[in-house]
Amino acid sequence: MPTNNKNKSVLFFSPHPDDHFSAAGTIFKLKEKGYDYYEVLFANGETGGHLGKTQVDPNELRGIRSLEFEKASVLFGTKKYYKLNIPNNDIHYTRDLMFELIKIIREVRPSLAIIPHTTDYHRDHREVSEISADALLRADNSFALHLGERYRVPVILQCRGINPLLKIDMLVDISEQYSKVLDLVEIYNSQVTPRMLQYVESLPSLSGYYMRAKYAEEFEIPRNLPIIPNDVLADLA
Ligand SMILES: [Zn+2]
Repeated sequence: MPTNNKNKSVLFFSPHPDDHFSAAGTIFKLKEKGYDYYEVLFANGETGGHLGKTQVDPNELRGIRSLEFEKASVLFGTKKYYKLNIPNNDIHYTRDLMFELIKIIREVRPSLAIIPHTTDYHRDHREVSEISADALLRADNSFALHLGERYRVPVILQCRGINPLLKIDMLVDISEQYSKVLDLVEIYNSQVTPRMLQYVESLPSLSGYYMRAKYAEEFEIPRNLPIIPNDVLADLA
């Protein structure tokens, strides 16, 4: 199980351009501690909702959401993102996708990977959760070694989506990063309804209550991918 913690980094698996907001406070926190941030973006969200419009033009929405994603990447200071350009609402397992993910994991060799949770309300999110977990397992197998040297990401966490986690295994205090999370949410003009803002404010506040902090983000440890303690755990404190 070769590991490489020389360069501390986070790899986020994002189904759509705005899904990283679920763990944004944690990502900002680790960026402040010198981590590099990488992201895999599966789909471009072109068939999602477009705030204020009853008719959605997929080409127009793809353009708008790509621009929002670019702005968000500047705010995060993303070192590199991998756009997979899968058609929206059509994310599913293929051997090619699995190979692509394994290649990315073995190339980035992150200290922490964050994926959606398995009980997310959105099918694309659930698919990304399952496929990413499989790829993270297989990246450490003697499987498809032409894709790079095997690597086990020591800490893998599932984040919440639009619905909260059913089981919370870890809380991260993001009180100091919360204003940046609001800056990020503001970038997503095409997606953020007033009701969504209510969620963005209330859930981190509830999670904060559990750990006696103002705001927190919550995570679940995936089945079959237990944590291998490393510096990340101290850096999340
Ligand atoms: Zn999404």
